[in-house]
Amino acid sequence: MTETTQEQAPGNPECLHCGILRVDARRQRAACEIWSRYEYVELEEEWPRHRWRDWTDTDLAACGIKPDAYERHRRTSVLAFSWVGCKDTVQGHVPATAADISILADHIGQCVRCGHRQPQEATP
Ligand SMILES: [Zn+2]
Ligand SMILES: [Zn+2]
Repeated sequence: MTETTQEQAPGNPECLHCGILRVDARRQRAACEIWSRYEYVELEEEWPRHRWRDWTDTDLAACGIKPDAYERHRRTSVLAFSWVGCKDTVQGHVPATAADISILADHIGQCVRCGHRQPQEATP
C-alpha cells in the first residue's frame, strides 16, 4: 500500500491539483491546470492556484473521506479522490440502481464507484 508514497524533498512538494513540483512551477511559471494528452489537446482541469500544503481535516471531510482514513489521504491528488476506495469514504459503496445498468454497472446493487459486486450475483 506504499506504492504511491514517494518521499519528496522538503520544500519541493507536488501540487495536489495538477501534480507539478513546486520548483518546476516556479521555473516555468506554470499555471495550475491539466491538459489532455490526446491528439486534440484541450484544457481538462484548472484551479486558481497550486496546492502545496497537505489537505486539512476540513478539506478531506469535504471530499467525503472518513476520519480514520484522513492520514492516508493527506497528499492524495485531487483527481484521485474520485478513485479512493469505498472503505475510506463516509459514503462507502454506492449500489447501482436500474438507471445505472450498462453505464456504470451490470447489475442492480453493484457499486458504481469501485465495481464491487453483490456477493449473490454470480457472473455467468
Ligand atoms: Zn497545481
Ligand atoms: Zn464500492
